Amino acid sequence: MEKSTPKAVKELLVGHGLRLKKRFGQNFLVDDGILKKIMRTAALDKDTLVIEIGPGLGSLTRYLFAEAAHVLAIEIDDRLVEVLEEAFEDVANFTLLHKDVLQVDLDEEIEKMDKSYGKVVVVANLPYYITTPFIMNSLQKSERIDRYVLMVQLEVARRLTARPSTKDYNALSVFIHHHTEADFRFRVPPEVFIPKPEVGSAVISLTVKDGHKVSRETSRFHDFVKKAFAQRRKTLVNNLHNAYGVDKEKTGDFLEKMGYDRNVRAERIEPDGWVELAEEFFAVNADVPRENKGRR
Ligand code: SAM
Repeated sequence: MEKSTPKAVKELLVGHGLRLKKRFGQNFLVDDGILKKIMRTAALDKDTLVIEIGPGLGSLTRYLFAEAAHVLAIEIDDRLVEVLEEAFEDVANFTLLHKDVLQVDLDEEIEKMDKSYGKVVVVANLPYYITTPFIMNSLQKSERIDRYVLMVQLEVARRLTARPSTKDYNALSVFIHHHTEADFRFRVPPEVFIPKPEVGSAVISLTVKDGHKVSRETSRFHDFVKKAFAQRRKTLVNNLHNAYGVDKEKTGDFLEKMGYDRNVRAERIEPDGWVELAEEFFAVNADVPRENKGRR
């Protein structure tokens, strides 16, 4: 397939007798304009290793290996793996892993490559059912990835890049802002996919912050933020009381000491404020089990 058009993609599917698998979130891109826009966003160079999740029929992949040093693609569907192996057998800077990306240790795979690269960038039109687990997993486990350029569901894109005091700002937004510089890049209409999804999509860019390290503290911190947002309409004091059993009065005093209103809600707290808040909370409440699963 030289160009990704609806006709070319349909011919490929029919030619290989392929049936689309809904459970793998298969919506193939059939618009070269969008593929080029993703490439401009990714701004790759010949010193970059790209990890592509779900190459599908290879529409995006062929752009990626033209511009990057090497593409490591991970595809779960065995029929698509056959098609890709055949189509790209002569491409020297392409490696295909037939695996479920959620079961892959990405840093280990990067380590296995026969040379090291200046940068590692994940570029993917993600299957929507794994968006959150994939991002959470890799941010909590990988120290080697520098950037993510991802096509995700529009609504999720908004949440991932949301600012405080908006309806989309939640624990996931805090987590993303804690680890990355998150940018909403552009919207993508349903018409550029086969089959056409029911929802809109968008491309986001997540640039991992300098000094990003993976540690036990990362998951503790994230657990704290999740509990703080557990019930959006409740005050932070109430959510912390419910999750950790802490005294409401004392927690209100603590928040005031930290410079917040005692009735503040989680959605008001800036992404940068959370680390200090969590650290101080655990310092003041040293008896609280840090990974308490909550009382309810
Ligand atoms: N990149 C192609 C494109 O843009 O046309 C296909 C994108 S499609 C939205 C998602 C792709 O991810 C499909 O090829 C699907 O088989 C694959 N996939 C789904 N779940 C996966 C998983 N857990 N691990 C790896 N690949 C997966």
